[in-house]
Amino acid sequence: MKFQEEDFLWRKSSKDLWEFQTKSQGIYEVHYEYYCSKMDAGGCWSDDRQLYLNFSNFIFDIQERKSEQIQIRIELEKNCYVATSLPELSQHFWEAENFQHLMDSPLLASPDLKYDSYKVGNSTFHLWFNGEIHFDLADLKSTFKAFTKNQIEAYGDFSSKDYHFIIQLLPYRHYHGVEHRDSTVITFGPAESLKDKTQMDELVGVSSHELYHYWNVCRIRPKGILPYDLSKEVYLEEGLVMEGVTTYMGDHYLLKSGYFNLEEYLLILQKQIQKEFDSFGWQHQSIVQSSFDLWLDGYKAGIPEKKVSIYNRGALISLCLDLILTSFESSLEKVMKDMWIQFGKAEIGYCLKDFEKLVILHSRDKAFIKSFFQNFVYGEKDLLPLLKNLLADINIEILENFENNDLLHFFGIRKEDSGIITQLHPDSEAYTILMKNDRILEYVDNTTADQVNLKIERLGKIININIIKSQKMFFPKFTLLTKKNPKSTLSVLIGK
Ligand SMILES: [Zn+2]
Repeated sequence: MKFQEEDFLWRKSSKDLWEFQTKSQGIYEVHYEYYCSKMDAGGCWSDDRQLYLNFSNFIFDIQERKSEQIQIRIELEKNCYVATSLPELSQHFWEAENFQHLMDSPLLASPDLKYDSYKVGNSTFHLWFNGEIHFDLADLKSTFKAFTKNQIEAYGDFSSKDYHFIIQLLPYRHYHGVEHRDSTVITFGPAESLKDKTQMDELVGVSSHELYHYWNVCRIRPKGILPYDLSKEVYLEEGLVMEGVTTYMGDHYLLKSGYFNLEEYLLILQKQIQKEFDSFGWQHQSIVQSSFDLWLDGYKAGIPEKKVSIYNRGALISLCLDLILTSFESSLEKVMKDMWIQFGKAEIGYCLKDFEKLVILHSRDKAFIKSFFQNFVYGEKDLLPLLKNLLADINIEILENFENNDLLHFFGIRKEDSGIITQLHPDSEAYTILMKNDRILEYVDNTTADQVNLKIERLGKIININIIKSQKMFFPKFTLLTKKNPKSTLSVLIGK
């Protein structure tokens, strides 16, 4: 049967919802084009050498038919390798259980894909690489196998037969990962930099993080995303558990599996501490509030000192929780195993209070944990004194110094090499006079008069300004130092 335009009606009723009505029953086909050129871990890309798809970007979720199977046929060259966790019915023809399954199963097809795999227990972990390999694949495989084993041991089981690491190695600087039920996409670059250990640390770090999401987020899910509804904004308070715990535990298993030594691991904590106290979002928003607002500006910088990073502050809160739990002869790992049993395996959504209750149960000190959550999770209390105390207990000292940058440490002005001001300390005099993005053309540090004379450009105007040196020092540089017996420090950190 052929239909005329007047036989049906369609209209767009909100930013991402289309409605379709017909006068008579029949099969209607919807044809559309999708512009496919976003290369990151959640995007889509199509060129002469690859087709890379994240289906949530362009496949319709039919409101009344959410639970129906969806078949996908893609016209590909015969010699294409395809990386995806979707079950294949025949060549280049796949079937997803339903829309949620499809949107959670990215696909990468290319004749250039490089492949390897390893097994842990009865599960096969597939490694797919698109791009140049500048590292020893056997080394990478044994690193991956070690952290996979550690994570599976911690949770007690891994319920999938297959899991796919789909890794895009790009020629330019890039870093992104997105977790899925049975796979992850990681976009990383420059590919060539992976011959350096510090860059490899980043790739291994994001890979361990994404695998940890197999349990935490993909299966241990907050109520608000069980299931995921793409038609509206998602408000979640559980950012601490979703990304904070994952960031902390991802690195924890790299220490435990021996990929990081104590020194390398402490450098990661040092960076997190530096990042946390270089900004003042924590004075204005709790991690719960920042988690709730996440859909607003995502991971972009946004308004200065307004929000906290659920990753960075979340990881430091997780470190504190782990050290507190360890002192009560439990651990964050054990709390997360209970989260897995009670919520993940049971397929029940959780909320932040459920996590808090489990931490209380494992510490057996209700009042202490309640006040911890009140201060640092629901509240905006300074985490630094607590971090100092908890780390001192395991022989790690946090040192602060203020050397080699007078403009930063005496006047509270952070600038790029080009002179553009990127940050002003809220307690500094400079904060009330200068503005972010002002460009410093010249400055004279007049030490005898305890002031600095600045010539700046703002909106094309040249302004001369004097700023008095403050009594207070700003923006300390943090260093973590193991005082004595690093062996005992390590054994507390890895829970042995
Ligand atoms: Zn994550």
